[in-house]
Amino acid sequence: MKRTTYFAAACALLFLCVFSSGCTPMRSAARTDLLLGTIIDITIYGRTSQETLDAAADAAMARAKELEQIFSATLEDSELSYVNQNAANAPVTVSRDMYTVLERSLYFAHLSDGAFDPTLGRLIKLWGIGTKNAAVPSEDEIQPLIGQKNYEHVVLNETAQTVSFTTDNFELDLGAIAKGYAADEMKKLLTDDYNITCGLLNLGGNVITIGERYDGGPWSIGIADLQAPQDTANPALILEITDETIVTSGNYQRCFTAPDGTLYHHILDGNTGFPADTGLASVSILTDCSMDADALSTAAFVLGEQKARALLSRLDGIDAVFIDTQGQITTTAGIDGR
Ligand code: ADP
Ligand code: MG
Repeated sequence: MKRTTYFAAACALLFLCVFSSGCTPMRSAARTDLLLGTIIDITIYGRTSQETLDAAADAAMARAKELEQIFSATLEDSELSYVNQNAANAPVTVSRDMYTVLERSLYFAHLSDGAFDPTLGRLIKLWGIGTKNAAVPSEDEIQPLIGQKNYEHVVLNETAQTVSFTTDNFELDLGAIAKGYAADEMKKLLTDDYNITCGLLNLGGNVITIGERYDGGPWSIGIADLQAPQDTANPALILEITDETIVTSGNYQRCFTAPDGTLYHHILDGNTGFPADTGLASVSILTDCSMDADALSTAAFVLGEQKARALLSRLDGIDAVFIDTQGQITTTAGIDGR
């Protein structure tokens, strides 16, 4: 072939490549399922085959189901139930997922001086908030379960990957951190195993994003207005995020109203035995790691704004939005302009 022919062929090839990649349509796959005690919504995007996107979305949901079987406090055959039934008798060998979440839970329990406490299982079951048996317990029932700091009685052995309890008067409940871990793990699976670079996962208010939005630029994530939390079209605040997570703990997510009109919600203060009452309606944490954001949003809600700000100021790369029960919104400095 002559030089000019080579050149023409190369040009044609280049044109074909550019043209075809420009024309590959942006596809998406969406899934919704009820897992981990909440509604999980996944939407992922990519210029890849529909089969790949579908397989990725299905695999992410399968991972959520696997984690539910590990962390559920209600499934009698979950790994968590097994640990609760046996760890006071002898060390229990646990899965890598369980070990990772327990280790991080103990870190946040100590860091927050028990505001986030993974050992409130019995108090949480006593209130039954979110179940049809929700009721205000008596003082006699609450009294033995408060002020315990039982997280100090959870012993982990990294080499053997075991957990044991040094007393038998508590149970673990990982409801305030497991969804965050699940969000991180689903994202990891999508990005590492399926090369997904764009997506949005919502685990009942735990939102995690993958990369930028499908049409470029950041994702806009709304934080619910406590006057109308279900009205997702009119949030109290919209934050723009790229490849990050926003996790909200609020008093409107799971609650019941007693006959006298008092609202009882599902975030409990281990010192009082009652739903935390620090004047906050919600706390949202914005950062990279959804597991950390989940634990911290619960801790911050229990601590109240002032103490929560003091705690967060000791950590790097964490921002927060506080909405008080009057609807007043305040944020940490990193949120300004977002
Ligand atoms: P949500 O589950 O609505 O996202 P949270 O992350 O704040 O909200 O978790 C609340 C759940 O965590 C409760 O339903 C209960 O299972 C558990 N929990 C309640 N109070 C505490 C607490 N102080 N520390 C740790 N876990 C808690
Ligand atoms: Mg939480």
